Amino acid sequence: MSKFWSPFVKDLVPYVPGEQPKIANLVKLNTNENPYGPSPKAIAAMQAEVNDNLRLYPDPNSDRLKQAVAEFYGVRTDQVFVGNGSDEVLAHAFHGLFQHGRPLLFPDVTYSFYPVYCGLYGIPFEALPLDEQFQIRVEDYARPNGGIIFPNPNAPTGCLLALEAIERLLQANPDSVVLVDEAYIDFGGETAIALVDRYPNLLVTQTLSKSRSLAGLRVGLAVGHPDLIEALERIKNSFNSYPLDRMAIAGAAAAFEDRSHFEDTCRKVIESREALVAAMEARGFDVLPSAANFVFARHPQRDAAEIAAGLRERGVIVRHFKQQRIAQFLRITIGTPDQNQALLSALDRL
Ligand code: PMP
Repeated sequence: MSKFWSPFVKDLVPYVPGEQPKIANLVKLNTNENPYGPSPKAIAAMQAEVNDNLRLYPDPNSDRLKQAVAEFYGVRTDQVFVGNGSDEVLAHAFHGLFQHGRPLLFPDVTYSFYPVYCGLYGIPFEALPLDEQFQIRVEDYARPNGGIIFPNPNAPTGCLLALEAIERLLQANPDSVVLVDEAYIDFGGETAIALVDRYPNLLVTQTLSKSRSLAGLRVGLAVGHPDLIEALERIKNSFNSYPLDRMAIAGAAAAFEDRSHFEDTCRKVIESREALVAAMEARGFDVLPSAANFVFARHPQRDAAEIAAGLRERGVIVRHFKQQRIAQFLRITIGTPDQNQALLSALDRL
């Protein structure tokens, strides 16, 4: 704390990102990256920008990328917003769509950045408990609110909410923005983008960090009614003239255009997930049903923090959260079959 700080900074509780270890050779299953790497066409497109164009400012509107996203989802470009990782897209949505003085609603086990943004923008919130199966209880969200947000599938549980339940939520809250954070949707869920033409209060965010394996590039997007997109554009244009650099625009657009690489990668991750779930269940773990590129698992007799520490000593890192309701769980990113085998061998040696 310093006298030079703006007063609100003293109360900020910032987000703590998952560890990016400095030691090489760890089997890194802690931050839900994709083990297979991005489309070679995305890499070639970025390389071309590096060779030819870095002297020039990028397109401030990222039109080429919006076009690729619009074509992929069958929407118009004025329904698409792009930003520097979905974290930034979410920040603009909190800033531009949720500051109404009424509480924002989200599940009580969810992406831990949501309360951080509430702190940053002074948004009151209510965190509503999940049910016994760790599912969102849609009925609970029929109460006065200044917006609703949840990941689908949820993080860190991996549990999916059906589109039909999302529609019930939208219908029960026509005067609030419902933001569906689809960071992990491509690993077995059905996107709510199919609903944006029918619900002007629906905003869907996605990222290229997971299914398109470009976490290092920092690109995310939102799809929704043009009025919601315009709010995000106003915030963006009041904040950063060039949020996406030339490599990000070119690489992300090429990644959206390369459908077959995307589909192959998702299929491989899903197959590895099913194999890993079976192998962990055979070792006595309870694994929540996952539609994501990670599993959320607990062992009835073993302490999760101890398992995480033991795995780390054996060169495998996974994520453990201290929050009370989930303190007995580990969140484990789906790796390659070899990485998953390294995890299982380390578990067997514990
Ligand atoms: N939403 C959820 C639910 C996430 O788990 C993450 C990844 N930490 C993000 C959004 C942000 O992803 P990115 O900023 O890499 O697009």
